[in-house]
Amino acid sequence: MSNANFSMPKPYNEPVKSYLPGSPEREALKKELDYQASIKVDIPIIIAGKEYHTANKGKCVMPHDFNHVLAEYSIAGEEELKLAADAAMAAKEEWANMLWEHRASIFLKAADLLAGPWRAKMNAATMLGQSKTAFQAEIDSACELADFLRYNVAFAEQIYSQQPENSHGVWNRSEYRPLDGFVMAISPFNFTSIGGNLPTAPAIVGNVSVWKPSRTAVLSNYYYMKLLMWCGLPAGVINFVPCAGSDMSRYVVSHPKMAGFHFTGSTAVFQSVWKQVGEHIAGYANYPRLVGETGGKDYIFAHPSADVEPLVAALVRGSFEFQGQKCSACSRAFIPASIWPQVKQGLMEKTAALKVGDVQEFDTFMAAVIDQASFQTCKGYIDRAAASPECEIVAGGTYDDSKGWFIHPTVIRCDSPYYESMVREIFGPILSIYVYEDSQLDETLRICDTASPYALTGAVFAQDRQAIVKMERALRNSCGNFYINDKCTGAIVGQQPFGGARASGTNDKAGTGLNMIRWLSAHTVKESFSPSSAINYPYMAQP
Ligand code: NAD
Repeated sequence: MSNANFSMPKPYNEPVKSYLPGSPEREALKKELDYQASIKVDIPIIIAGKEYHTANKGKCVMPHDFNHVLAEYSIAGEEELKLAADAAMAAKEEWANMLWEHRASIFLKAADLLAGPWRAKMNAATMLGQSKTAFQAEIDSACELADFLRYNVAFAEQIYSQQPENSHGVWNRSEYRPLDGFVMAISPFNFTSIGGNLPTAPAIVGNVSVWKPSRTAVLSNYYYMKLLMWCGLPAGVINFVPCAGSDMSRYVVSHPKMAGFHFTGSTAVFQSVWKQVGEHIAGYANYPRLVGETGGKDYIFAHPSADVEPLVAALVRGSFEFQGQKCSACSRAFIPASIWPQVKQGLMEKTAALKVGDVQEFDTFMAAVIDQASFQTCKGYIDRAAASPECEIVAGGTYDDSKGWFIHPTVIRCDSPYYESMVREIFGPILSIYVYEDSQLDETLRICDTASPYALTGAVFAQDRQAIVKMERALRNSCGNFYINDKCTGAIVGQQPFGGARASGTNDKAGTGLNMIRWLSAHTVKESFSPSSAINYPYMAQP
């Protein structure tokens, strides 16, 4: 057994490839897209490393061509979910005791394979199954997921090295144990990287988990599970159980050894699971750690001194990339009346030029929303705005579900900053704008801060520095990630720690030490080298 203190490889952000015509990465991706579009994958449940097939099946389809079935997956029920929790607990001791350098190596290897031979496979599955363009898949399933793996290993290393002070004759030690139970990970559809990170971050520090992927991201998430197994993740450490959300709540939340809940998704689901945890609180062996990154109503707020061209670019990219389905996507904007005519003109021109279509055509800017339910939600907002005397459809306002769930990029100007599309999360390519009088800056900042319950991301645009200072102060609690003269999307692991507060989550910042520490239970050891035999204290001596 080695007794050296090893140095961890330094983490770095995986460089984003360009996919220029003729580049090797583009050729490899096209080949893989053709291949994945030509096969139908049979996706099992994976418990303790074993595959389970059930009669209850779900389908993975292309949102931009919903009759095309990419895969069928088995859906776990009560029996499989209970088995998964037991399998996690059975794998726990050996995993927690694996030497750190070996545990870490599994995830560092996975990062390198993702960035190398598995890159095209992961990106193609994300493109076809979640309707992402090549670039949107690249920054998600290749780069961000590799970044999560590399940085989380480095953050764990930093935490492990934090040690208490010592005094004469005493050595104090802190060790950081995994939680005394298993982690329940429930992930959303919109980022393959988040799906991967939710069970993996706790696993890096020695936890075991039951992982429920989103039903609309099962294909890419399954390939990630296979990658971890290929890299030597021991059986039972992560158990992959596509299932109904309600079954997860019923059979896993109530388990006495559920020690942590790692969630990303909507505010409503997080709140409902939190309530269930509350109902079971007396039955748990520990108080479960609850970590949730949830909804958003992200904004761009422009000052009259804003530079219009980058402002328009930020509005278009921030609102419409990946069909507005990033949790950080801009979905409301506050524009001063003095620059509104130029901003409006820019939005109309740039939005009309965006190609909406199939992700396999590389000139596509945006594709389809994730499913029929999302299509109906977006359509409802557009139809109501079109019929409302309070709203003007500035751009888009059309949709088409004959082949895929396409919502065209839509800009709505609203007379009221409290109109429904200005305050509710829609999660589609719909940007609502309130035009304020330049003289009403202070009041409008207050409305931006308080009109919606969320606080995830926000951006301000201004050239005037005093204005930036004022806006930053006024909007301090309106978001967890604040941008100055930049769009409100695109946070990078290690550079802009990501997460929001209020109804947007517990703000534990995915991909940071703040998040990793939630999966650890510190244990303090004091050793006295020369133990005292005294009972009485000096002050007790009689004069
Ligand atoms: P969702 O809440 O519909 O689903 C998330 C997961 O919860 C899925 O796996 C789903 O099957 C599961 N689920 C549903 N009902 C459940 C129940 N009763 N019990 C247990 N699990 C249940 O979210 P989504 O549509 O997949 O993702 C979009 C949402 O995620 C948006 O609200 C978005 O803002 C949010 N999001 C937030 C962040 C962030 O960092 N704050 C990041 C990505 C997505």
